[in-house]
Amino acid sequence: MAETDIVCISPIDGRELVRRPIMSESAIDAAIKAAREAQAKWRHVPLAERAAKVLGMLDALVAMNQEVVPEIAQQMGRPVRYGGEFRGVEERARYMVRIAEQSLKAIPADDPKDGFRRMIKREPVGVVLVVAPWNYPYLTAINTIAPALMAGNAVLLKHASQTILAGERFQMAADRAGLPKGLFQNLVLSHDQTSRILGQGLVNHCNFTGSVSGGKAIERAAAGSFTSLGLELGGKDPAYVRADANVENAIENLVDGAFFNSGQCCCGIERIYVHESHYDRFVEGAIDLVNKYVLGNPLDEATTLGPMAHKRFADLVRQQNAEAVAKGAKAHIDAKRVAADVGNTAYLAPQVLTNVDHSMSVMREESFGPTVGIMKVKNDEEAIRLMNDSPYGLSAAIWTSDIEAAESIGDRLETGTVFMNRCDYLDPALAWTGVKDTGRGASLSKLAYESLTRPKSFHLRQI
Ligand code: NAP
Repeated sequence: MAETDIVCISPIDGRELVRRPIMSESAIDAAIKAAREAQAKWRHVPLAERAAKVLGMLDALVAMNQEVVPEIAQQMGRPVRYGGEFRGVEERARYMVRIAEQSLKAIPADDPKDGFRRMIKREPVGVVLVVAPWNYPYLTAINTIAPALMAGNAVLLKHASQTILAGERFQMAADRAGLPKGLFQNLVLSHDQTSRILGQGLVNHCNFTGSVSGGKAIERAAAGSFTSLGLELGGKDPAYVRADANVENAIENLVDGAFFNSGQCCCGIERIYVHESHYDRFVEGAIDLVNKYVLGNPLDEATTLGPMAHKRFADLVRQQNAEAVAKGAKAHIDAKRVAADVGNTAYLAPQVLTNVDHSMSVMREESFGPTVGIMKVKNDEEAIRLMNDSPYGLSAAIWTSDIEAAESIGDRLETGTVFMNRCDYLDPALAWTGVKDTGRGASLSKLAYESLTRPKSFHLRQI
């Protein structure tokens, strides 16, 4: 078998699920040429017609939900009981379609002058490459695919090896919706091929969602090519439960925010700071809830916590937990009582750690797994200092009954999104963005259209 294949190993049983050959260099070049030709026409298609096609693609995708839900479980381990991602995919895509006209319309100069027509129009950038991760294979990809097409671009999708079938599903949806040939193409690429495309400036913009190391590799590959980049990378998102919080609500939501999808959410809660007045109850309540998770085969309706997407991801979390315990942390979940966790597979018991501090990797490096550290804090100052003590900044969640306090604490947090009394959610009307090592650029909201278009100024003088 060729080593040039992309292989997906199912976390359910460690067996090979899918194998696809990577494309030849000539096939890649032909795909890019076809994308350019299709885009040259598509950019002139009226917005309403573009919207009809993009919504048609969305409908075709959603119609596949029954097949897609078990397919996701097989590829990356999310339990079927949660019903897939298409509700969120629809919410985001429909919103981005709805605001396209307003977001793309020309901006008149704000100091009108007699005898002049002056404005800034927005033009599509051309060909957009979307490099997608496996953790939410549809939700992450749609963030760019829908607005990029609406803005008049062609889209090339390179999906993660772990969810290679999601790329094929997008292609099926585009074909069924009758998108012009070449306008949307799913490519099966090696890392080197992706690098070549970027390095040679063969696309105009790349949106990469993935790890920090992957983001750095993409930035290096694109250096000198003037390809613009959107980078949505890792996180270590904190939550703060204030003295005036509804603690029962905080327990329920933060446990879900930390453990849903086996903790494999970019904005999943990875560290929790609790005011000393709530600390004991919070820890007790969190342990009770976490003990209720049923770890098992994600195809089984009873399973509430699936395996991690790959054994290597589970091994990293095992190491982080072990290092924390060796440094004095207390692990509250007895993994020996979780039958599905036999210690050397992708199945990993959830864990709640206390007595943690920021010398431990579990409080500093992304875990991207079913583990959470909880620390006691005395006041807002201490919570803010600890929340900001991180190389990442995607989202931060504050539990409080004081909206003014949430906003002013939020103003001091080094993060892309501030939540109050909720977490682990993307609002399509707000920019999805990160600071520090979490990335650059913004997706969703009207700001997404800025990176997917370029401004063109018109300064027309009547004589
Ligand atoms: P990853 O290993 O970086 O991979 C992401 C995508 O990039 C995959 O399609 C991968 O292809 C490709 N890739 C990785 N390294 C590459 C390279 N050097 N050259 C070209 N392509 C490369 O990340 P992941 O494990 O799939 O996803 C988990 C990470 O994504 C976490 O860190 C998570 O926080 C982050 N994430 C961030 C957001 C956000 O909004 N900020 C959202 C979701 C996920 P292969 O699969 O073929 O290797």
